[in-house]
Amino acid sequence: MADQFTFQDPTTLYADIDTKAISQDGPGLDSEMRDRADLGEATYRGTGRLEGRRALITGADSGIGAATAIAFAREGADVVLSYLPEEESDAQRIVALIEEAGRTAVAVPGDLTDRAYCAELVRTTVERLGGIDVLVSNGGKQQYVERLEDLTDEQFDETFKTNVYPLFWLAKDAVPHMAPGSSIIATSSIQAYSPSEHLVDYATTKAAMNTMSKALSQQLAPRGIRVNVVAPGPVWTPLQTAGGQPTDALPEFGEQTPLGRAGQPAELAPAYVFLASAESSYVVGETLHVNGGMPTP
Ligand code: NAD
Ligand code: MG
Repeated sequence: MADQFTFQDPTTLYADIDTKAISQDGPGLDSEMRDRADLGEATYRGTGRLEGRRALITGADSGIGAATAIAFAREGADVVLSYLPEEESDAQRIVALIEEAGRTAVAVPGDLTDRAYCAELVRTTVERLGGIDVLVSNGGKQQYVERLEDLTDEQFDETFKTNVYPLFWLAKDAVPHMAPGSSIIATSSIQAYSPSEHLVDYATTKAAMNTMSKALSQQLAPRGIRVNVVAPGPVWTPLQTAGGQPTDALPEFGEQTPLGRAGQPAELAPAYVFLASAESSYVVGETLHVNGGMPTP
């Protein structure tokens, strides 16, 4: 059976997944996606790269975070999953897949804009998994707004509170528990480099996350903790169908990339595995672009 190591043409890969013009409320559900994103359920093959690691992943119920959670488990890691309470059904599907891989999954729903919840996430990881070696700050909010006058102060604030603050809060709480060899990975975006006109607040948070990670990497490297970033391009996930893009733009989503298509969450997961594992021991303060070929500085 095909897996992530199978020799394939990247331009025609996933030609069967159609990015449809669907629209969802709230954070959106993976189960409502028809065509569904590929999270690597049927294809990701672990090779023992994260044996015994203890990971906290935010936004782990769907999309990139879920694909990463599945990959981490199949590589031998136990996982705490963060997501919003209304995403419980998506999260439980990922919990089952982690358990099928023979690893521990701990589901901790809550709101990342709440400082106390972020503290609880790290505390629960340490208590339930016996420590924390990997933090993936991936949960995020993206709502397109066409005109500056329509971008509310509340949305601007919430986008920062969801995307930027949790990276600071979670890293600050996790670091005292992290032994040398541990890894922090933030999810930035192509938007940090090539911002869309209708994603002013979002693009700015992704640049902030990128820069915060680079600053943190300088401070934490001497302590043996590596901080790195993954910057995805257009990836087919619930976020895009829940106000991340104008609905009528979804059928063409990703076609502007040199590969001519949207990425799938399963294609992002190996980047997180690489940055979490010891094989990237000399990779520090890096932004790994997984974007179908869009040039970045
Ligand atoms: P997704 O909708 O599957 O995941 C985002 C998750 O963020 C949600 O599942 C939700 O659990 C979580 N979240 C949002 N607000 C939250 C809150 N207040 N409290 C707790 N959890 C909250 O979509 P995705 O595309 O996989 O997004 C994952 C990350 O990838 C995000 O940071 C996003 O900005 C980034 N990203 C996505 C793309 C893309 O094209 N899909 C491109 C670049 C970057
Ligand atoms: Mg979700």
